[in-house]
Amino acid sequence: MENETVSKNFIENIIDKDLAEGVYDPVHTRFPPEPNGYLHIGHAKSILLNYGLAQEYNGKFNMRFDDTNPTKEKSEFVESIKADIKWLGADWEDRLFFASDYFGQMYEAAVKLIQKGKAYVCDLTADQIREYRGTLTEPGKESPYRNRSVEENLQLFEEMKEGKYADGEKVLRAKIDMASPNMNMRDPVIYRVAHMTHHRTGDTWCIYPMYDFAHPIEDAIEGITHSICTLEFEDHRPLYDWVVKELEYPQPPKQIEFAKLYLTNVVTGKRYIKKLVEEGIVDGWDDPRLVSIAALRRRGFTPESIKMFVELCGVSKANSSVDYAMLEYCIREDLKLKRPRLMAVLDPIKLVIDNYPEGEVEYLEAPNNMENEKLGTRKIPFGRELYIEREDFMEEPPKKYFRLFPGNEVRLMNAYFVTCTSFEKDENGKVTCIHCTYDPATRGGNFTERKVKGTIHWVSATEGINAEVRLYENIVDEEKGVYNEEDGSMNINPHSLTVLKNCVLEPELANAKPEDRFQFVRNGYFCVDNKDSKDGELVFNRIVSLKSSFKLQK
Ligand code: ATP
Ligand code: MG
Repeated sequence: MENETVSKNFIENIIDKDLAEGVYDPVHTRFPPEPNGYLHIGHAKSILLNYGLAQEYNGKFNMRFDDTNPTKEKSEFVESIKADIKWLGADWEDRLFFASDYFGQMYEAAVKLIQKGKAYVCDLTADQIREYRGTLTEPGKESPYRNRSVEENLQLFEEMKEGKYADGEKVLRAKIDMASPNMNMRDPVIYRVAHMTHHRTGDTWCIYPMYDFAHPIEDAIEGITHSICTLEFEDHRPLYDWVVKELEYPQPPKQIEFAKLYLTNVVTGKRYIKKLVEEGIVDGWDDPRLVSIAALRRRGFTPESIKMFVELCGVSKANSSVDYAMLEYCIREDLKLKRPRLMAVLDPIKLVIDNYPEGEVEYLEAPNNMENEKLGTRKIPFGRELYIEREDFMEEPPKKYFRLFPGNEVRLMNAYFVTCTSFEKDENGKVTCIHCTYDPATRGGNFTERKVKGTIHWVSATEGINAEVRLYENIVDEEKGVYNEEDGSMNINPHSLTVLKNCVLEPELANAKPEDRFQFVRNGYFCVDNKDSKDGELVFNRIVSLKSSFKLQK
């Protein structure tokens, strides 16, 4: 088959083997976020990987909120996470779950371990437990409570559930091996007392399961086959396997770890994004300078571009960091042929064509996308007064400057050739207006009898519409790196946001809707802001400029 030439990643190899050996069938994956923040580009990788595998193998994909820790979780995050995953296109059908719905089953599972002599209630304090655990080079010491009878453990655990003990007074621990070379296996705590209100179960519970105990149970209950997580859980896998084995699940799920996605010089960790939000350095979790999914969406990235990006990154066992330029490459590739290319002047200066009839408006036809005829053509109004970019005029041009300067002729894109005759300045010496004459014979701009070296874009001063445009740079000062080595603080780039209030756009753009994307010729790709745009008051975010130094390695 043609498609077979694409090499598979290591997870696909594991699944192929499992299917061939009849270990699992069908494949069933899940995405299990903790609802304690917004999702980011790294989570997108995990979502698309898990969903993609389910699709590839004709299996199922579950959405599960891992909400076993009541301290940091909020319903606000549950909603944002659902919206982000839907937008990315991962479909959990009717399988939306909450780990907190399994608290009853987790409790039963703990009782089962006690009955098997595989768990005990321990009265050591958190500090003592740490002390007893030993170190990487020394074995741990057994807790004096380790050999309590099954009956006593059952009774104490029930009392923990009934609220007889204060937070930290007692815990339930798995009875595994205090001498294990793997610290996670030295009788880990699996249940703790915490008198806290849970965002879904309220005050029903005052004991909560620990992640390493809860997660394998959640997977097993849902019939997950391949439980894919990131590398930091590799050392926890023996405990995962121990839990599903001791609880005697008929088809124990398999944990597989892959490397997290990191972007060079970009803040990805939930913890750090939260800090930027809380300190008011950015405008919320969806500030277009962030790489949360909501922010990428608001900035103008498409689900297709994010999918292409994570596919290019691949799946690996080795941590590495990818350049943000690769993400920019993906959005350019996605929008290049799909979206119209229009003219927008971001830093306008007036241009008057003195030999053009006053009050006249003519419509010039132009292709919407030179590289894709299917996008059709449009009519652009032209007249005596236009706006051009301030940087497209120079009073005293340096060598190789081919745009407008006194005496020079340029092409106004899709329109006419114009020659600069004079210009006006204000009392501060700032150029306020440029005067030109046009040559009617050059209509359409494809005139071949005379060559001009510069082509500039423009917008009719009378017909154009106004908009705000926001330009972005990395929120991180790239020279210094993300974190300050001395105190761990972030190095912030003070120029990460530029707001341009007086931009002028082709009137065609008046009907643009939030999240519509366009190329503005010479200026980049832009997206209508989905938060601050109102009817008649458009705000555009620059997604990315047109040029890149990034080259895809083939
Ligand atoms: P963060 O470290 O950014 O706060 P997290 O791992 O605490 O993220 P969870 O909600 O626990 O966030 O993660 C849900 C899933 O997303 C987990 O399976 C986790 O392994 C995966 N994930 C988190 N960050 C990344 C990343 N950078 N790359 C790939 N997968 C990730
Ligand atoms: Mg986490």
